[in-house]
Amino acid sequence: MPLSVALAKSGNRRKSYTTYLKPLVTAEWIRQLTAAHPPQPPNATPAGRTQAHFMIHGPSLYNNLYKIPPYLNICTARNPMSLTRFRSQSHQLIPTHKFTVEIAQRVTYDQKICPYCDQQATGNEIHIMLQCPGTKHIANDLVATLTTLLTHSHQPTWNSLTLYQQASIMLADPPPTLPQKFHQTWLHATLPHILSYIAVLEAHLYNTPHAMPPP
Ligand SMILES: [Zn+2]
Repeated sequence: MPLSVALAKSGNRRKSYTTYLKPLVTAEWIRQLTAAHPPQPPNATPAGRTQAHFMIHGPSLYNNLYKIPPYLNICTARNPMSLTRFRSQSHQLIPTHKFTVEIAQRVTYDQKICPYCDQQATGNEIHIMLQCPGTKHIANDLVATLTTLLTHSHQPTWNSLTLYQQASIMLADPPPTLPQKFHQTWLHATLPHILSYIAVLEAHLYNTPHAMPPP
């Protein structure tokens, strides 16, 4: 039994043991994550949905396993559920297949075709948010806000970031170069804009099937 647990009053012993175990379990989780999903070069082409997910959210996953992600912790007027849906597309727990509901059957994420422009797009978030002619205009205001904030925070400019880094910031991960002590401030400044954007984007994706006319 570790000393900190042995010294705890008997009524606190279970809690003390939990506190002792948390960083150990987190470290093991991170070790397994890193082994299963080795870091990719920033401009690599992902082989599938899961790899795309780790390229976008990789750094934000290497935190304390027992801490709720800050974007869920900060109270805003908007519900962060839509954002969670976007951030969780690489697994099957949350029904992001609504985006392709017309096909009436679920496709695997690697086969997912953009319903707006019929392109196959691994790293679907990036395509929908930053590239698709049917939806990228929705991000204009958010991108302008993030561009200004990056400059004010003395971070690399928006245009110097890779598409993965841009998508990651648009989905409420702090910029990779921003020191940890500024993360809360960054999230407080950006989250209301991000949630508004995601809500508009989600409404657009659910409500307008095939927005693009055939060329
Ligand atoms: Zn598209």
